[in-house]
Amino acid sequence: MILVNEPLFLGNEKAYLNQCIDTNWVSSDGPFVKKFEEMFAAYLGVKHAIAVSNGTVAIELAIAALDLQPGDEVILPAHTIISCPMGIIRRGAVPVLVDVDSETWNLDVNQVESKITPRTKAIMPVHIFGQSCDMQPILALSQKYGLYIIEDAAEAHGAEYNGQKCGSMGHIATFSFYANKIVTTGEGGMVVTNDDVIAERARSYRNLCFQPQQRFLHEELGYNFRLTNLQAALGVAQMENIEKLIAIKQEQGANYTSRLQDTPGIQLQKVEPYAKHVYWVFGLLLDDAVPFDAFDWAKQLLAKGVQTRPFFWPIHEQPVFHKMDLFKEESYPVASKLARRGLYVPSGMGLKTEDLEKVCVIVKETLSVYAA
Ligand SMILES: *Cc1c(COP(=O)(O)O)cnc(C)c1O
Repeated sequence: MILVNEPLFLGNEKAYLNQCIDTNWVSSDGPFVKKFEEMFAAYLGVKHAIAVSNGTVAIELAIAALDLQPGDEVILPAHTIISCPMGIIRRGAVPVLVDVDSETWNLDVNQVESKITPRTKAIMPVHIFGQSCDMQPILALSQKYGLYIIEDAAEAHGAEYNGQKCGSMGHIATFSFYANKIVTTGEGGMVVTNDDVIAERARSYRNLCFQPQQRFLHEELGYNFRLTNLQAALGVAQMENIEKLIAIKQEQGANYTSRLQDTPGIQLQKVEPYAKHVYWVFGLLLDDAVPFDAFDWAKQLLAKGVQTRPFFWPIHEQPVFHKMDLFKEESYPVASKLARRGLYVPSGMGLKTEDLEKVCVIVKETLSVYAA
């Protein structure tokens, strides 16, 4: 079986973990947390990085740090993970959806302006599968209407838009270090910003809104979203190798592209000239002419020893939101199609080249009947 994801630890991970045990620093107070934050901020070229327990709470923390109020609207793509609308809803704000582009699978920037109302406070571009959204038009709307930009860069460590790193362009950005992400701490996340006030609020909310003057006196309700020193130890070791990790993903992406780009029956994610794509995962979209859907296809591939994952199920089709009377009559056809026709092939950091080659042969086998 070729697994959809296997991580890779090629540096000081073990040594730094041992250091945590040897020094008794296992909580979030340990020195690796600060080091990890400093390395991450320096890598992105931003002023503040705030380590948190995962990429999901990073989004909720970002919404809290921007001080969004109940009823404030945040525009985001329909093709994303539940974490995005969840963080908005948990703070009482309102998610407003737009469809994604049929070729890049990223937020369709042409659909954003018509969704802006007097209550709109932010836009949340999600850099899908390791490729930046088209940020220039998004930043222009931010300027024109005075909106915050919250980048969800959970899948885009090291990705760039016209030479600028994903996560460094908005007012605030979030990252995930889940085991299948480009940098991993097992579970973990980061909130980054250049704004001192936003950073201070994020740090306070992360840590129960303890006050420096009188620790156990609270003016606001915060969270415990802290990352442990053990997790940060992995993060520091991973950041020491970040360029190597990104090079591995880019080589995988190039290899998959050259082997699969002319395969009849599938479409690959379009790579835009503005993007340094870091290929978090390698997605494939079935053409309409292929008579099976992605779920059938995944079963065929699994029977031949290739594990895959479907794309995100779209936000407007989530039963949990229909129960909340959200998005019921709304339609985002591209996001709906991606959910039914798309899957991604093994893309882990630890994927061997010979396994990648096998995956390509098997993908082609399943589609050969449809070749002209
Ligand atoms: C992985 C991911 C998250 C959530 O991160 P976790 O660490 O798993 O909570 C958020 N947004 C996107 C786009 C992701 O891919």
